[in-house]
Amino acid sequence: MALKTPEQFEESLRKMNFKIYLMGELVKNPVDHPMIRPSMNSVKMTYALALQPEHEDLMTARSHLTGEKINRFTHLHQSTDDLVKKVKMQRLLGQQTASCFQRCVGMDAMNAVDSTTFEMDRKLGTKYHERFIQFLKMVQDEDLTVDGAMTDTKGDRSLAPHQQADPDMFVHVVEKNDQGIIVRGAKAHQTGAVNSHWIMVMPTIAMSKEDADYAVSFVCPADEKGVFYIYGRQSCDTRKMEGGTIDVGNSRFGGHEALMVFDNVFIPWENVLMCGEYEFSGMLVERFAGYHRQSYGGCKVGVGDVLIGAAALAADYNGAAKASHVKDKLIEMTHLNETLYSCGIACSAQGSKTASGTYLIDLLLANVCKQNVTRFPYEIARLAEDIAGGLMVTMASEKDLQHPEIGKVLEKYLQGNAGICTEDRARIMRLVENLTLGTAAVGYRTESMHGAGSPQAQRIMISRQSNLERKKKLAKKIAGIKE
Ligand code: SF4
Ligand code: FE
Repeated sequence: MALKTPEQFEESLRKMNFKIYLMGELVKNPVDHPMIRPSMNSVKMTYALALQPEHEDLMTARSHLTGEKINRFTHLHQSTDDLVKKVKMQRLLGQQTASCFQRCVGMDAMNAVDSTTFEMDRKLGTKYHERFIQFLKMVQDEDLTVDGAMTDTKGDRSLAPHQQADPDMFVHVVEKNDQGIIVRGAKAHQTGAVNSHWIMVMPTIAMSKEDADYAVSFVCPADEKGVFYIYGRQSCDTRKMEGGTIDVGNSRFGGHEALMVFDNVFIPWENVLMCGEYEFSGMLVERFAGYHRQSYGGCKVGVGDVLIGAAALAADYNGAAKASHVKDKLIEMTHLNETLYSCGIACSAQGSKTASGTYLIDLLLANVCKQNVTRFPYEIARLAEDIAGGLMVTMASEKDLQHPEIGKVLEKYLQGNAGICTEDRARIMRLVENLTLGTAAVGYRTESMHGAGSPQAQRIMISRQSNLERKKKLAKKIAGIKE
C-alpha cells in the first residue's frame, strides 16, 4: 500500500499507545479530544488531498526507490521541480486548513538526514545511510507521518551541551551496548508530535568533540516506551471545548506543539542515524533548517491567503470595501504574501543536487525567505486587524448570538452591510481573531518568528552565505582599484 486514505490515517493513530499529558491529565483518547482533534484533521488533509485527482501532481510523487506512487510528504526531492512542487503543495494545504498541517517537519528531516548520512558514511566509513533508506522505504510504503524533532530545551544558552548544570538539557546518549543506545532528554515545541507515527530525532546545533554524546540522530516509534508528551497550550484553546463553531474561528483545523520527553529510551542500532560523529551535526542542522525555512515560503503564504480573504470579507461585511485605503491595504498584504512565496519558489528553483542525489535548496535564498517570514506575517496580521476593526476581539459569544432574546439585540446592533447576516460577519471576525491572536496565531505569528530558527539564526546563515569578498572584488573592478 503506498497511499493511505484519510480514514486509514485516523484509524492508525487510534492504534498508537501515546502517553500525553494535557492540562494536568493523561489523555485517554487523543484522536477525539476536542483540543487535539482539529490538529489531527489538518494532518488528515495531507492524506485526503493526495487522493484527489486535481491535486495529484502536487501531493504525490514517484518514489525514486520503488517507482511507486507515494505521498510527497514521504518523498526525497529528486529535482528542482520537486522542490518547487513541495512549496506549492504547502501553499495549497495552508489555504485548505488555515493552520499548521504538521507533516512537513518529517519530510524536511528525512531529506536532510538522507544527504547528511550519505556524506558522513563516505567520509567516515559509517553505515548510517543504508539504515535510513530502509526506514524511508517503510515510511513510503506505509504512508507514515514522521515528526522531525530537532529543538532541544537548551538550558543556559551561554553554555555548550556538556557544560550545562543538568546534562539532560540536550538529548544525549547515556548508554551504549551491543543492541543499541539509551537516550535521555527532551525536544521542545514539537509540531504535530502526537499525530505522528514515528519520530526522527536530530541534534539541535553544531557540536564539538566534548559534545559527542549529544551528536545523536535516530528514529523511533512515536509511542515508544519511555517517550511521553506534555501538550502545549495555545491562546483561546479552551474555546475548542465549548462545542461551538463560531467563537473558535476555525472549528475544523488547527496545529499543535508538545514537549517530547525521552526518559531513558532504548534505540536499537538499526534505528540509529548518528552517534558521536559531531563533525556532521552542523551539516544536518543547517540542511534541515534550510528545508524548513523554504517550507515557510509555502505554508505561511497559504494561511496568508486565507487571512487576506478574511480581511477582504470583513471589509465587505463592514461596508468599507470601497474605501481607497482599505483597497490599498489589501494590495499591501498581497504584495507581502507574494514576496514570501517568491522567496520559497526562488530558493527551490535555485536548488542543487547533493552527493546522495537528493536536491537541496539554495541556502542563502531559503534563509532570506525565513527572515522575511519573521516580519511580513506580522504586518499582514496588523493590516488584517486594522481592516476588521475592534469587533473581532470585543464581540459577544456564540451563546449570546444564539440566545433567544439577547441574540435579537446582537443581530440588530452588530449588523454591518445590510445584505449580510450578522452571524456571517461574526464568523469572519472570529476567523481574523483566530489567525492573528487565537490558536492559529501559534503557527501564523509566533512560529513565523521562531519556527525553523529565530531571526538571528538566519542572519548568521545569511552572513556565511553572502560571499562579501566576491562583492568587494566586483566593486574594486568597477571603481578601478587594483588588487
Ligand atoms: Fe509545515 Fe508550516 Fe507547520 Fe512547519 S509550520 S510543519 S512548514 S505547516
Ligand atoms: Fe514549523
